[in-house]
Amino acid sequence: MLKNKTALVTGSTSGIGLGIAKTLAEQGAHIVLNGFGDAATLQQVQQEIAQFGVEVLYHGADMSKPAEIEDMVRTAEQKFGCVDILVNNAGIQHVAPVEDFPVDRWDAIIAINLSSAFHTTRCALPKMKANNWGRIVNIASVHGLVASEQKAAYVAAKHGIVGLTKVVGLETARTGVTCNAICPGWVLTPLVSKQIDARAANEKISWDEAKKRLLGEKQPSMEFITPEQLGQLTLFICSDAASQLRGAAWNMDGGWAAQ
Ligand code: NAD
Repeated sequence: MLKNKTALVTGSTSGIGLGIAKTLAEQGAHIVLNGFGDAATLQQVQQEIAQFGVEVLYHGADMSKPAEIEDMVRTAEQKFGCVDILVNNAGIQHVAPVEDFPVDRWDAIIAINLSSAFHTTRCALPKMKANNWGRIVNIASVHGLVASEQKAAYVAAKHGIVGLTKVVGLETARTGVTCNAICPGWVLTPLVSKQIDARAANEKISWDEAKKRLLGEKQPSMEFITPEQLGQLTLFICSDAASQLRGAAWNMDGGWAAQ
């Protein structure tokens, strides 16, 4: 389905980004990987993608640095001609009440979870428009739709990316480029494991009990969403059937936002 297309997935060395990169590679897209990791991890993820018989380019741009982001998009364009599919996924979390929220964590979350998507989009869009085909998929969160306590920067950034999605969706509405957001509920990745670890320690309970409490508070299905399921939703957004899906924020959240 995606043969001869190139997908750039930010933050794809782990979790949801890696799951999405694999799903797109399975459909024949060449992949630009990005994100942090030690040498062994970086080598392993590149091999995992290459086994689908597609080309893989790794770029280690730090998503908080606009010049590095621009270099990543230009490097991808030089190698593959165009970034046809852009998945803005890189993200971090920090949990604290607003009055104690460290200023440097606020700045980092806004830069990595929100501003990076502005920079990748402004750099990649001209070639997508010139080809009259493109897909921009922003991995927001159910926290782009509703709030939780202690997540001021994350919720602000995710609401922001839903807003950015709408604007880019409108500005591309009469082209073959679409821009949409996916809003996942809890997915069991390193980003969430850390929150379960903290909860187990704070409440002096087992990891399994902390996991149950975390799900029970917000996610009615009591089950995690998987990176593979998010990969399949991304694939649908890349299909012709989704050509009129524009500026949407689509939640896959086990019922979280329905409450
Ligand atoms: P993760 O920690 O497993 O992966 C994050 C990825 O981003 C990694 O590849 C990491 O190296 C990369 N990254 C972090 N900082 C970076 C930087 N400065 N520059 C480049 N890369 C950087 O997390 P995840 O759970 O897979 O999260 C991926 C996205 O999904 C995030 O935007 C997150 O907010 C969103 N999300 C996650 C959940 C969840 O429950 N896990 C739910 C909703 C939304």
